[in-house]
Amino acid sequence: MARGRRRGWQNWAGNQRCTPSAIEQPTSEDQLVDLVRGAADAGERVKAVGAGHSFTSAACTDGRLVDLSGYGRVLAVDAGRQRVTVEAGITLLALNEALAGHGLALENLGDIAYQSIAGAISTGTHGTGIRFGNMATQVVGLRLITGAGETVECSEEVERDLWHSARIGVGALGLISAVTLRAVPAFNLHAIEEPARIDDVLADLDALVDGNDHYEMFWIPGTRWALTKRNRRTDEPARPRPRWQAFRNDVLLDNVAFGAMHRVGVRRPEWIPALARRIPSTGRQEYVDRSDRVFASARYVRFLEMEYAIPRAAFPSAFAELRQLVDRLGEPIGFPVECRFVAGDDIPLSPAYGRDTAYVAVHVARGRRSDAYFSGTEAIMAAHDGRPHWGKLHGQHAGTLAGRYPAWHEAQAARRRLDPDGRFANPYTDRVLGPINP
Ligand SMILES: Cc1cc2nc3c(=O)[nH]c(=O)nc-3n(C[C@H](O)[C@H](O)[C@H](O)COP(=O)(O)OP(=O)(O)OC[C@H]3O[C@@H](n4cnc5c(N)ncnc54)[C@H](O)[C@@H]3O)c2cc1C
Repeated sequence: MARGRRRGWQNWAGNQRCTPSAIEQPTSEDQLVDLVRGAADAGERVKAVGAGHSFTSAACTDGRLVDLSGYGRVLAVDAGRQRVTVEAGITLLALNEALAGHGLALENLGDIAYQSIAGAISTGTHGTGIRFGNMATQVVGLRLITGAGETVECSEEVERDLWHSARIGVGALGLISAVTLRAVPAFNLHAIEEPARIDDVLADLDALVDGNDHYEMFWIPGTRWALTKRNRRTDEPARPRPRWQAFRNDVLLDNVAFGAMHRVGVRRPEWIPALARRIPSTGRQEYVDRSDRVFASARYVRFLEMEYAIPRAAFPSAFAELRQLVDRLGEPIGFPVECRFVAGDDIPLSPAYGRDTAYVAVHVARGRRSDAYFSGTEAIMAAHDGRPHWGKLHGQHAGTLAGRYPAWHEAQAARRRLDPDGRFANPYTDRVLGPINP
């Protein structure tokens, strides 16, 4: 196992930094187990890191950081039962390719695929689609390592309570060694991406959300425009966009144009509305492609993000208040507000627990001050019973969160069983879940 000397670590966005006592790179489960036992003997904490794509300090530690980038093999594919078992560090990109090779796919994905599977499920990563749950709802089994270095299998059939909670564990409910996922037969998506007037979108929202398999919209603050994405599952053969068009939209538009807006916005914020108004004029795209290629795209611009899950029914009122906030602040925002819709689930620490959910995400460019925008958004979302994405910036703590999660105690019971000494705790879990032994 590669063991690095003491050096610094930082996340993708560059807003979280820490100096672990060591950065370990295990390549087998035996090494993972030895590592946890060694840390227990030394009285040190352990923190796993996937792709470091969380904006919060969820993966930071001054103990031992376990970098799982070398622990990402496919362990088994059961094409008949449509199940796949993988090591925790596999990236979604690699998982998608492996599944495609077996005529399978994940039923839904977020908008990038760089994350590790364990990191993605641990924070409740989601895509959009009101009939589809967060990614963790696709998990049918987990192999966990406890704080004492024991391995535990859990699923719907064995150790059900552990499986029930550990699907979204914020890195505190055991160290995930392997994940078994329910897959579906590979499918194509018919995608339509086009600008629309925000008031038209809001007037038709229920029909758009219910009438499409996967609907999302990006409102451009300071304008009357939104960019909309509608994806429908289809048997049509792939008709991908020409490479130049995909490049123009996914690279130039999604990344460079917004990136330029940020850069200009940092120095000349008064130009942002005029620049933003140019973006909808880039027009409409319609194509059919393999599902994972439609769901996920590249992100080159580094930004900071906050995202809240609110009851779907609360969306119109929360969004109206967000528009008022942007008007009131009067400072141009160079990044769209992303709105997605996801089915409710039963995972205790899921932001979508027990209710169909609207996710509202606000972003600013790295280097841009976000205090008033983010704190204003957070106040609005809190007033609408909002629950923060565990991997995105927020100011909540266990005291403000426990009451928003009806099955909070179930997750805490699983946590105490898996990690009674807080081996996998860090300052973030101490804050958002509370100390293991209060
Ligand atoms: C550009 C960008 C786009 C994004 N798009 C979306 C999106 O569309 N939808 C969405 O919901 N989120 C999105 N996110 C957020 C992202 O999906 C989550 O933050 C996710 O957790 C990142 O995965 P990771 O592998 O980088 O995990 P990390 O950030 O490395 O870790 C996240 C947490 O998981 C824990 N963890 C990792 N591995 C293990 C393990 N083996 N066992 C136990 N705990 C573990 C870590 O300790 C940490 O607490 C996006 C983030 C970025 C930067």
